[in-house]
Amino acid sequence: MPFEADITIVAQALDRFYNDSISARKPVIDQKRLDQVVRDLDLEYYAKKGGLEGKKLQLFLDKYLAYNTRLHHPAYLGHQCAAPHYAAALGTFVNAFTNNVSSIYEMGPASVGMEYFLINWMLEKVGWKKAPTTLARRVKDQDFGGGVLVDGGSLANLTALIIARSALVPDVWEKGTPSNLSILLPSKGHYSLAKAAGVMGIGAEAIRFVDVDEMGAIRPDRLQRCYKRTLQEGKRPIALVANACSTAVGIYDPLDEIADFCQENALWMHVDGAHGASALLSNTYGRLLKGVEKADSLVWDAHKLLQTPSLCAALLLRDHKHLDQGLQISLDASYLFHQKQQPGFDFIHRTLETTKSGLGEKLFFVLGALGERGLGKYIDRQYGLALQAYDYINELADFECPVRPQSNILCFKIKGDSKTQMDIRQRLTDEGRYYITTVLFNGERYLRLVFMSERTTLAHIKDLIGEIRKIRLSLLKDAKEQLL
Ligand SMILES: *Cc1c(COP(=O)(O)O)cnc(C)c1O
Repeated sequence: MPFEADITIVAQALDRFYNDSISARKPVIDQKRLDQVVRDLDLEYYAKKGGLEGKKLQLFLDKYLAYNTRLHHPAYLGHQCAAPHYAAALGTFVNAFTNNVSSIYEMGPASVGMEYFLINWMLEKVGWKKAPTTLARRVKDQDFGGGVLVDGGSLANLTALIIARSALVPDVWEKGTPSNLSILLPSKGHYSLAKAAGVMGIGAEAIRFVDVDEMGAIRPDRLQRCYKRTLQEGKRPIALVANACSTAVGIYDPLDEIADFCQENALWMHVDGAHGASALLSNTYGRLLKGVEKADSLVWDAHKLLQTPSLCAALLLRDHKHLDQGLQISLDASYLFHQKQQPGFDFIHRTLETTKSGLGEKLFFVLGALGERGLGKYIDRQYGLALQAYDYINELADFECPVRPQSNILCFKIKGDSKTQMDIRQRLTDEGRYYITTVLFNGERYLRLVFMSERTTLAHIKDLIGEIRKIRLSLLKDAKEQLL
């Protein structure tokens, strides 16, 4: 096996890719047409003949990487995907080759151990009780938190809501979903939650939206009214979901007050912290999650703000028993679920998956490299930069920002209609100078920056503003010429 030689080739190619990205020598994005990608990479040839190793591997990788979008690039301000730390990629690689999974302990003691440790590490950050590492203690001392790593925040949200439903309707797995269930969401809730309502047979139309303020944050003073109205309709909400933070503009709901309301009304509180729960590691921004410890469940993606490659999302519960009982179905899986004397722990009953990737390696290797302080500093930097950029843009006469950022997400627009913002983003993407997105917020289209790369500075934002102004002028000129 040309193992070492090929690994060296891969490492060198990635090193070039990384350096070309951080130095901005190559464009952040360069989308070739699909047919060209398939042709240029000789996929057909290799699929038939094989032999992708050595010199051929090197040539192939150079082409392949040239067609990649560059997340480490300072001009990468696109989606909420991490610019991964190389150590996290190494962890992913090691697990990929050993292929130890974390569904059952005997298929990956190191992988399970790592995941179990990480769940405890996260539980502690939330303020929940860590699970004991010995079976005897687990049986004796039932009062502790629990969690599992799954493939993404969407799946984690779905799993959380399924568990909340089991808590409200204990025989749901046998009898099916009652027709009067509902979910309480802020209108800026992530669309995976509406999808979950569909998957669970609750139906998106049964969702009831709670009132929010002009930034899209839940208004605790209006919760009572919304809740009462929902009950009067004959609906039974399985949970109230709060954002920490919202996807569109990155605003945190007031968790503390929401949690008090949920406790008073014995309502399951689920916190969607897919993006913003990582602020728990920051001394400066951790306060945004004040009250999260009073919630019942939390989703926390590592592949967004913890420099971890996709996908690695934690579903965490204050009380592990809900997680250990909430996904039970009496199918015959006795070959997996027998009461065996075992030295470890199985995760299989905590997820919708059967074979479950070893996801601990993705996060642990970066945590092990930087330490939690290092990750906290990264959050501080990215959140702080969004504020600096806001202070700069908000002062400009031809620009406006709808909200002051609370995370590393910043929305703004240049004078002009929604189409102008869309056209600007299109032009930027075509030129490959900056990769940004747009978002619809309170009925208007905004440009949206997500600060993921550690290499982005305020100077890049000033340059981007200059680019946007130039594009706008050229769009105006084009429009005038069309009129003449
Ligand atoms: C990204 C995000 C999700 C979805 O997570 P994936 O890991 O992309 O599936 C859900 N909720 C919020 C608030 C998010 O930001």
